[in-house]
Amino acid sequence: MTDHDVIVVGGGPGGYIAAERLAEAGRRVLLAEPNALGGACLNVGCIPTKSLLNSAKLYRQALDSTTFGVSAEAVRYDWGQIQAWKDKTVQTLVSGVGAKLRRLKVEVAPQAARFVAPGVIELAGQRHQADHIIVATGSLPSMPPIPGVEGNPLVLDSTALLSVASPPQRLAVIGGGVIGVEFASLFADLGVQVEVIEMLDEILPFMDADVAAKLRRAMPKVQFHLKCRVEQVEGSSVVYTDASGQRVRVEADLVLMAVGRRPCLEGWGAELSGLELTSRGVTVDDTMRTNQPGVWAVGDITGRSLLAHAAYRMGEIAAALIIDPSSRERGQTMRWDTIPWAVYGHPEAAGVGLTERECVKRGLTVRCVTVPLTLSGRFVAEHGLSASGVVKLVAEPDSGLIRGLQMIGPYAPETIWGVAGVLENEFSVDDLKQVVFPHPTVSEGIREAVWAWRG
Ligand SMILES: Cc1cc2nc3c(=O)[nH]c(=O)nc-3n(C[C@H](O)[C@H](O)[C@H](O)COP(=O)(O)OP(=O)(O)OC[C@H]3O[C@@H](n4cnc5c(N)ncnc54)[C@H](O)[C@@H]3O)c2cc1C
Repeated sequence: MTDHDVIVVGGGPGGYIAAERLAEAGRRVLLAEPNALGGACLNVGCIPTKSLLNSAKLYRQALDSTTFGVSAEAVRYDWGQIQAWKDKTVQTLVSGVGAKLRRLKVEVAPQAARFVAPGVIELAGQRHQADHIIVATGSLPSMPPIPGVEGNPLVLDSTALLSVASPPQRLAVIGGGVIGVEFASLFADLGVQVEVIEMLDEILPFMDADVAAKLRRAMPKVQFHLKCRVEQVEGSSVVYTDASGQRVRVEADLVLMAVGRRPCLEGWGAELSGLELTSRGVTVDDTMRTNQPGVWAVGDITGRSLLAHAAYRMGEIAAALIIDPSSRERGQTMRWDTIPWAVYGHPEAAGVGLTERECVKRGLTVRCVTVPLTLSGRFVAEHGLSASGVVKLVAEPDSGLIRGLQMIGPYAPETIWGVAGVLENEFSVDDLKQVVFPHPTVSEGIREAVWAWRG
């Protein structure tokens, strides 16, 4: 038995932020994490990929800098140093999470926890119960049962590709979602020949297809094969059937399997927990409550949104409601439609709210406008007129209520939180017209879209 108020199972973004918020409010928290703190995000996801992408960006910019009056001779990259910087960044951030949890007096148990009965956790051979248990065991890469994939050392998931000994000469990527596109962009910038095979009509299906197509065309170094179904992998070659039914082979040196992630349902006694489980993960309501009293689930394990910042928010909501159940009335519930997304390839992209396609699906009438980022002085100064960048605004006619925004271009992931605020506060186009944007910034593209929109 335990003398903790809350047991948190999993120390990724969902679990550690919940633990922090609870401890800040004086709750005694036990957090179980058998691996490094920070979960997928810090160790094999958000942070290491952004570190590698930044190195690739610097390399590309050094190669392309003569237009801007800067030349560098014998530009080269050192994969070992790129890896070392990535590893150092990860270690710094992971130890930062540990230090903060220590400072807040969260007890971190470096073991796996598992349910042995509903509401009962076993940890290091001891049984524990607490008023509240938060499940935050995250997700794992999916490996579909494509012939030739299982046990093939040349087919890697994103975790393995992050730390590959040297970049391949040719990379085949199965799946054109965020992870596939970010790795494609990264390796293409490093001079690797990259081909992406995607089953759907367009990459990045959470974007409107017209915007996603612009992003795809802005990556000319990557060859995309759309509407293509991978049939098998032979060594490092990928065989797919294209839209016309032809069998085609992509010759590569390594294959990245990037078809998505699945909830981590193993190793924590899910089957004994009494929790309602589906193929998406643990079922929760908008306040992160499960079907079991006092048991909460947050982050990727819920299958509701596989993003670190969504996991943070879910963790915060569970913590807020544990601390004060009445805080639900003060807005502590998940608003799934205002979670921004971002893609950190070259170019970057970000968005929030509903796409035009989603509005149509929900029966909402909307008017859209798409403006080029070349309307932004800073964008032109830094990229010229031929670079790719757009803003697409989705708003309701008459009222002008802003429903969503998608953006391709530099700084998009840094800019989009402002639009999330716009949606949270139910701004109309006219409300946003009254907001002053700093000049010159790429974010002024949003202002241009607002003024170009016609209801
Ligand atoms: C390549 C890649 C790039 C990504 N890039 C981004 C990005 O740029 N932005 C973004 O928002 N998201 C990104 N993500 C997604 C992001 O990493 C996840 O959404 C986020 O980590 C989910 O947090 P979580 O706390 O739910 O789970 P996780 O981070 O998966 O953490 C779960 C933790 O639970 C632990 N655990 C499992 N079983 C047990 C047990 N029995 N007992 C105790 N602990 C257990 C695991 O060891 C793990 O540490 C990326 C993911 C990948 C793979």
